[in-house]
Amino acid sequence: MSREGLDPIFSPTSIAVIGASRHRAKIGYAVLRNLIVNEYQGTLYPVNPKATSIHGIRTYPSVLSIPDPVDLAIISVPAEVALAAVEECGKKGVPGLVVITAGFREVGGAGIEREERLLALCRQYRMTMIGPNCMGVINTDPEVRMDATFAPTPPLRGDISLVSQSGALGIAILDHAKSLGIGFAKFCSLGNKAQVSLNDLLAMWQDDGQTKTILAYIENFGNPVNFVRIARDVTKRKPIIAVKSGRSEAGSRAAVSHTGSLGGSDLAAEAVFNQTGVLRANSIEELFDNAMAFSLQPLPRGNRVAVVSDAGGPAIMCVDELVAQGLRLAELDAGTVEFMRTWAPPEASLRNPIDLTPQASLDDYRRALDAVLRDDAVDAAIAIYVPPVRVDEVEVARAIWQTAAQRGKPVLCNFLGRTEESPGFAELVKHSVPSYLFPESAARALGGMYRYAKYRAREDGETRTFPVDRKRAAGILRRAQDEGRTRLRDAEALDVLDAYGIRIARSRFVADVDPLPAAAKDIGYPVVLKATGPGLVHKTDLRAVILDVRTEKDLLEGATQVRDRLREARTAFDGYVVQEFVRGGKEVILGMTRDKVYGPFLVFGLGGIYVEYLKDVAFGLPPLTDRDARRMIESIRTYPLLEGVRGEPPSDVDALVDAVLRLSQLVLDFESIQEIDLNPVVALRKGDGYRAVDARIVLGPDVKPPHPPGPEEGAHSSIQTPSGSTT
Ligand code: ADP
Ligand code: MG
Repeated sequence: MSREGLDPIFSPTSIAVIGASRHRAKIGYAVLRNLIVNEYQGTLYPVNPKATSIHGIRTYPSVLSIPDPVDLAIISVPAEVALAAVEECGKKGVPGLVVITAGFREVGGAGIEREERLLALCRQYRMTMIGPNCMGVINTDPEVRMDATFAPTPPLRGDISLVSQSGALGIAILDHAKSLGIGFAKFCSLGNKAQVSLNDLLAMWQDDGQTKTILAYIENFGNPVNFVRIARDVTKRKPIIAVKSGRSEAGSRAAVSHTGSLGGSDLAAEAVFNQTGVLRANSIEELFDNAMAFSLQPLPRGNRVAVVSDAGGPAIMCVDELVAQGLRLAELDAGTVEFMRTWAPPEASLRNPIDLTPQASLDDYRRALDAVLRDDAVDAAIAIYVPPVRVDEVEVARAIWQTAAQRGKPVLCNFLGRTEESPGFAELVKHSVPSYLFPESAARALGGMYRYAKYRAREDGETRTFPVDRKRAAGILRRAQDEGRTRLRDAEALDVLDAYGIRIARSRFVADVDPLPAAAKDIGYPVVLKATGPGLVHKTDLRAVILDVRTEKDLLEGATQVRDRLREARTAFDGYVVQEFVRGGKEVILGMTRDKVYGPFLVFGLGGIYVEYLKDVAFGLPPLTDRDARRMIESIRTYPLLEGVRGEPPSDVDALVDAVLRLSQLVLDFESIQEIDLNPVVALRKGDGYRAVDARIVLGPDVKPPHPPGPEEGAHSSIQTPSGSTT
């Protein structure tokens, strides 16, 4: 669908209301009425075979009897006759349709077929359609003034556009926004999204001069890959703030891997948001809080915030939330503090957060806010005011917005306990200062602005394709599939990784005890000894891993012990692996799980065996750019540990970035891979790379054969088995 395709829908010069009615209870009544009372600027044609006029406007029996061209038809007739009406629109040459009528895919059965026929008609007559089962569209542009919904009140005019997968919720959002004084440019209720999708709307609003901020209520991404591509472009120009409800169907995944247990589709959605710069609001309330901030204030240049308050408690609450949001308290210039000292009440605390105390006058408050906003060390301010009885709150509000307007830095306000009904709140919002009931909400909204500003400033990076030995990996995967195995053997898993240039600990697989000493000698002591076999999942739990084996004697004794333990635990195993003992690194997890809806996503975290408890992980949707991969690694909470704390050397993050990108290439090359779990990967000090010491690769249950392999490129296997093969 082209962008022009939506023009007849959002900027029509004439509208036919099919199903217009005189009966108040009918949707067709409300839609026509909304168009009239909200002063639609084009020509209206009510269509109703049983009336000659409605609301004083001449009515037509059919769209075909309208003498002039029609840009948009709004259809609210019952489902049984909707297709006939749509067909007539096609014959008439109407380019745009908004189908409010319900009774399509959402009811299942015959509804599904009806929707298919509807779509076929749109295709046949080249019509662009919103819906069916939607609540209509709005454009507040003074040249259009179209409220083609059956909502009770029209929104205020503004520069936010809202797209909603739930019509009712969309209308409720518009309604509440009005009480907050927030205005809209456009609104679209998507309904069943049979043709026009969320992605289409985003693409259109990207270039819409009237839309400064986009809000979206999302239940599911129709095409997540397209969403990522489009949203990425849009957020470079304007913010998208989205509420995402529901969870997609989780891919059925084997519970054998850490990655799998960390996953869950909502996390995939989270990855989509992170990678596209779309701001995710956790509730409708947060959506409003953010919308207000983004539409009223400029973005902060940095994360240094000043808090000005007349009470200590709320200021502290605010600071806690600021820090949680990744913002910082600004270090005020000494001059700023000295200046305030000359007039502030003696009991005031003038170090950020500034507590002027209730002794402060209105003028003190104004001067303090102005002083911090002038300070070069301040990027944004939060003004907290606990209205005392003796000062008029509207005057305070005026002082705040007047000061804020002069300095070009974002100012968010909290009039403690004051909602949109209070005069102070109204005064602020009317003059472009967002105001919140609680200090934390203001801090959270500022956090969202900062994150978006940071996202906008960041570099995209490049996608890379590494020369890999795809053929070798394909061969291993195919053999496992041919043998009906869904989990690769340990040796095979390491070999697949090796084929993709992911560095693995040098390993020798042996079938029994006899060749162990030679294998260990080959690797070089100290070594690690592990049992291996298809039934062995968590080897540590079965005490089937022995670290730091230094002598042949220890090696053989260890092998006997492991064998005895496994026998006792009645766990079958079919051999040993001797591995280089990788010392002096930090354990990280690197993995992939494939979601039914979103496709593959990568997981990175710190913690090795503790990862499931720490849950400090980051997700990424391939294809990743080098910058995406680095950001993914940097985004975990414990990232400072990789940079080195307490005199430790920094870890080789560059090498980890390389590993993430290679893994990304691997999972894009082979759809048959359902899950990968490299746990742990030992990250060594800068320059020394990393080593994967344990790998699990799970294949999907109904796998397609791997793509034909690309040209073979030389990567030498560092895995050897007794026979020289990889089994
Ligand atoms: P499992 O996860 O099945 O219990 P692993 O092979 O991951 O078995 O080994 C368990 C732990 O032993 C790892 O998390 C890591 O701490 C340590 N370990 C395993 N192999 C090595 C190695 N080659 N070098 C250093 N440490 C290792
Ligand atoms: Mg492990």
